[in-house]
Amino acid sequence: MVLGFLRWALALSILLAGPLAAQTSGASGFSDTVPLIEFSAERLDISAQLTYLPDSSPPMLLEDAVAPGQPWKPVEGGSANFGFTDRAYWFRLQLDNGTPATMERYLELPRPFLDDVRLFHFVQGRLVKSYLLGDEQPFVQREILHQNFVMPLALEPGRNVLLMRVASSGTVEAPLRLWKPTAFFEAASREHLLAGAVFGVLLVMVVYNLFVYLSTLDRNYLFYICFVASYLTFWGTLSGLGFAYVWPDAIRWNSVAVPISIGSACFFASLFTDSFLKLRRTSMRTHYLLLGMGAMGAVLALATVFLPYAWAIRAGAALALALALATLSIGYWRWWQGALFARFFCLSWTAVLAGGCVLAAGKFGWLVPGFWVENSLQFGILLLVVLLSFTLADRINAERGLRIKAQRVALKQSQKARSSQAALLQATEEANRALEVRVQTRTGELQSAMGQLRMANEELQRLSVTDGLTQLGNRASFDLALLNEHKRATRLQQSLALLLVDLDHFKSINDTHGHPAGDACLRALAGFMRSKVQRAGDLLARYGGEEFVVLLINTPLADAMALAEELRTGIAALAVPLEGPAEGPLKPAVLRFTASIGVASAVPTMHVTPSQLLGDADKALYEAKHGGRNCVRAAAPRPPHARG
Ligand code: GH3
Ligand code: MG
Ligand code: MG
Repeated sequence: MVLGFLRWALALSILLAGPLAAQTSGASGFSDTVPLIEFSAERLDISAQLTYLPDSSPPMLLEDAVAPGQPWKPVEGGSANFGFTDRAYWFRLQLDNGTPATMERYLELPRPFLDDVRLFHFVQGRLVKSYLLGDEQPFVQREILHQNFVMPLALEPGRNVLLMRVASSGTVEAPLRLWKPTAFFEAASREHLLAGAVFGVLLVMVVYNLFVYLSTLDRNYLFYICFVASYLTFWGTLSGLGFAYVWPDAIRWNSVAVPISIGSACFFASLFTDSFLKLRRTSMRTHYLLLGMGAMGAVLALATVFLPYAWAIRAGAALALALALATLSIGYWRWWQGALFARFFCLSWTAVLAGGCVLAAGKFGWLVPGFWVENSLQFGILLLVVLLSFTLADRINAERGLRIKAQRVALKQSQKARSSQAALLQATEEANRALEVRVQTRTGELQSAMGQLRMANEELQRLSVTDGLTQLGNRASFDLALLNEHKRATRLQQSLALLLVDLDHFKSINDTHGHPAGDACLRALAGFMRSKVQRAGDLLARYGGEEFVVLLINTPLADAMALAEELRTGIAALAVPLEGPAEGPLKPAVLRFTASIGVASAVPTMHVTPSQLLGDADKALYEAKHGGRNCVRAAAPRPPHARG
């Protein structure tokens, strides 16, 4: 839509610039008379032919103005513009109708904000028509219902003199144009189309951004919408279109709408710039500067009702200029600081600045005036409005991009966190497993060590009670067993028998056949005796050297004697083979030996101790030795309560 509008505007400008350029180049040397013929141009810009006269105080009457001898002067630079002034001005124009017929022409004054415009049409000193116009007159009173002041003239043949008085509390300007009515209406319809397009662009921006605001609730949009609405009001008032089409009866409003809308536009532009460029977070100084300017705008908008219009409009123009410069510099400063979203913002305000410069250049005469030059500021502001909308969209986009990027980073982080958590878990599991294996290994090692220790202990235990040579119990183990069995026999009142067996002349076996042979005899004896002492509870042990002892539980003396006799005969019958090569013919192939046995038996009491019992058996053995050896002797039985 914007493109279409621009293309259309370009075409229009070429159309309008043609006759205008012809006019401008044709004006050389001053003449206060405009000659008109049948084929005169359809539109004539006649400012250059005006002469003017400042009104005096008290105001001049019409008679004074028409009186000869007044110091009429041509307008300077061909443009009737007196800027902000409290004075009223008179303008005079002479139109020479060079045809014999009355000519219909429209005189247009395209400054709809002028307060008071009066026109007097004289033909040969006779007043034929007068108009009272100005934005303080109701719109419907106008003869031609157009936003500009348009005065139809019936130019009689010959000289027609026009006197016009303009008074306004704003600027006083009189850029007059003379139209053929048909051309005027054609131009008006084109102008209306253009105005409609501008209005459409602004309205679309307001509505579109209103919807965006409603969905995002981003206050930047609200400021923007209010700014555009303010500008729309300003433009509508200044162009006269608002008065013509929107508020034709609101004369009071129409006269203050310009400073009010400038004030409110400044207010919202300040808030927008401050908020959009995030100045509060960047620089408090610029933040307060813009807030101050915004406050001034608000005060201006409110005070317009009380302030003289001339002051309000001057203050508004100054504030708008200052704000535009401040906004532009701060925008570029923020961009320079690295705020990328400020680039469209800068571009849009640059468009306004460029428009203002082109307009100023046109006013100073550096540029050929024309459609584009005259409307450059409006185009600049239109561009501003459109570009600011892009700016907002750009920022939404940028912020969405940032959000997506942040989300992506967060996702990556969480994935990383999750994977490192998994790795940690795995490492912990592996460590646990390794620990378990080590614990199991250590436990196994410990168990096997304990097993070995137990076995070693058992072996040690066994060795401590076993005789190494014969593998029978040793003396210590026997003594312990005797003590236990003695207690038991005492408790049960059973007889306990002891046999002491001692080999006869064993020394001579050692001496004759060597110690190993003696050992072999001892082993053979032990094996034999083990085969004879088989009853459960009975005990066989090596008591020392070649002396053996047999403990028989619950055995009376007779039974013990029988076993002793059996042992003695068995020992005497043992034949122990001699190991190793025979050393001579005399050497016997086997060894034989005998044993003497002492037997003691008693029912133990408190008075028959184990050592007494042993002593008894030893005595009996001694007797057997003395009795010739290879015999069995019994100890004398002890009376049941006898003492040691
Ligand atoms: P008796 O008939 O009076 O008992 O005469 P004996 O020679 O047997 O008596 P004695 O007590 O004088 O000698 C015991 C001998 O037994 C002395 C020692 O050489 C021998 N003997 C003691 N223990 C061992 C042993 O473990 N191995 C061998 N080969 N001889 C031993
Ligand atoms: Mg002995
Ligand atoms: Mg002996």
